[in-house]
Amino acid sequence: MANVGLTICYLLSRITFRMRTPPEPSVDVAIIGAGPAGLTAAYLLTKAGLSVTVIEKDTRYVGGISRTVEHQGFRFDIGGHRFFSKSKAVVDLWNEILPDDFITRPRMSRIYYEGKFYSYPLRAFEALRNLGVIRSTLCMASYLRWKAFPRKEARSFEDWTINQFGKKLFSIFFKTYTEKVWGMACSDISADWAAQRIKGLSLGGAVLDGIKRSLGLNRKPNDGMEAKTLLESFRYPRKGPGMMWEAARDHVVAGGNQVLMGHALRQLSHDGDDWRVSATSADGERIIRARHVISSAPIRELLGRIHPLPQTLPQACDLKYRDFLTVALMIRSPDLFPDNWIYIHDDTVKVGRIQNFRSWSPEMVPDESLACVGLEYFCFEGDGLWSSSDEELIALATREMAALGLCSPDSVEGGAVVRQEKAYPVYDDVYAANVAAIRTELAHDYPTLHLVGRNGMHRYNNQDHAMMTAMLTVRNILAEDHHYDIWAVNEDAEYHEAGDEGAHDEIGTPLTEDQRAALNSVRAVPRALKAA
Ligand SMILES: Cc1cc2nc3c(=O)[nH]c(=O)nc-3n(C[C@H](O)[C@H](O)[C@H](O)COP(=O)(O)OP(=O)(O)OC[C@H]3O[C@@H](n4cnc5c(N)ncnc54)[C@H](O)[C@@H]3O)c2cc1C
Repeated sequence: MANVGLTICYLLSRITFRMRTPPEPSVDVAIIGAGPAGLTAAYLLTKAGLSVTVIEKDTRYVGGISRTVEHQGFRFDIGGHRFFSKSKAVVDLWNEILPDDFITRPRMSRIYYEGKFYSYPLRAFEALRNLGVIRSTLCMASYLRWKAFPRKEARSFEDWTINQFGKKLFSIFFKTYTEKVWGMACSDISADWAAQRIKGLSLGGAVLDGIKRSLGLNRKPNDGMEAKTLLESFRYPRKGPGMMWEAARDHVVAGGNQVLMGHALRQLSHDGDDWRVSATSADGERIIRARHVISSAPIRELLGRIHPLPQTLPQACDLKYRDFLTVALMIRSPDLFPDNWIYIHDDTVKVGRIQNFRSWSPEMVPDESLACVGLEYFCFEGDGLWSSSDEELIALATREMAALGLCSPDSVEGGAVVRQEKAYPVYDDVYAANVAAIRTELAHDYPTLHLVGRNGMHRYNNQDHAMMTAMLTVRNILAEDHHYDIWAVNEDAEYHEAGDEGAHDEIGTPLTEDQRAALNSVRAVPRALKAA
């Protein structure tokens, strides 16, 4: 009898054990995030015949920041994504994933200031006409005054720009928009960014040129260079950038691999052989075992999920982000302007930039009788703008369009809000040292954990850079070696400072021009001024 009892107990325990631990699927590579970086890796690994599972926390969209959001047939692109790369490999991959759906669109953007449009960069006579003779003369006088008596030590963006263009032009064309985007006063932004970013910008020169011409001081023919930007064009998937990443996902799934939507990373641990990736969804928890993990999740989130917690978790928690939201308005009217964007240099409204979705692709706006614009607000998660309800934001956007004189509130037929958390990784005084410490620890403890992409590497980059980091990571995985250094973006000095001696020899294979071009596409970000 006792034996029967023991046997039943044993069998029950086996059943319970089996119920508690369903078989854990095992793949070659688990990928966190179905944005451009994650899906580029998944696409290439699938093509190479490896088994892959992608987890994506969004329940509906792939593409990350480069997704296309749909609302009642209208399509919205977060910020507007031009598909441009100096890397042929990236362009070839775009064409391979989406061979038939690119359109070529003209690029046009202008500054909107006090009810007038200014081409960007400025065209001299148009600027003159818009500013009027009196204000143009005041700009000239201000320019001359600051050239004669510049601020002695140009430490801030404000100092540098005033010394370069005069206070008047600074306040019209630089101050407001810069402060909206970065959430910092121009006097708190360090001058190096201004020097880097404004270098060669013809704005001040163009206005001055126009003023000189109107005063008869410059009779040389205008060489028409300023018109160049108006003629530029770019490629764009006809249904927005998400179309590219939906196609990539379809290839991955058709190749027998999985993209699990609505699955957020819960925990990541390594048992000495394999990774154990746990993801939560509305249906519960799912475990995936994998030899390699590629992560495009923000570093701050990733480190809090690694078990045991890495020593550099405090450095990860110190990384900061700037957030972004778009309020789309459907307006009963012909298109309000032909531009892709207009930059709002007006400090009486909070909107930073307005996107005209139809200028990107006519297929973004399904109703020909409506115009559809996206008002872009730069914010911090949890601040007043971010925490406003959708209704409040639509009402704000409607009021601001009216205040700018762009449409009447009665013509607004509907609206929708798209929030993008962590749109911009912030480069503050400590970010570089924090990222270096995290990199060093992870590379040492977990060589099979690969960080890629924008927030995955805390790099302010475009899609082509995010894709190239994934492309090189795939090569490293296929070669079972760290042939390529995906962090190698003008960072040789940093390597040595980080004490990673010999890293270059280990890395071995030098980057080709093409790969370097994509890795170099990281954009300049202003740094906060250190306290004196
Ligand atoms: C306003 C703006 C304008 C831009 N314009 C351009 C442009 O014109 N051209 C261009 O090429 N690029 C542009 N970019 C940059 C481009 O959007 C990014 O470079 C690109 O999307 C980065 O790809 P990624 O895969 O690294 O990251 P992301 O796009 O951020 O994707 C990461 C993915 O990971 C998912 N994820 C995060 N955490 C988790 C988790 N814990 N578990 C599961 N999933 C997770 C996210 O939901 C997301 O889908 C722009 C960006 C902004 C903000």
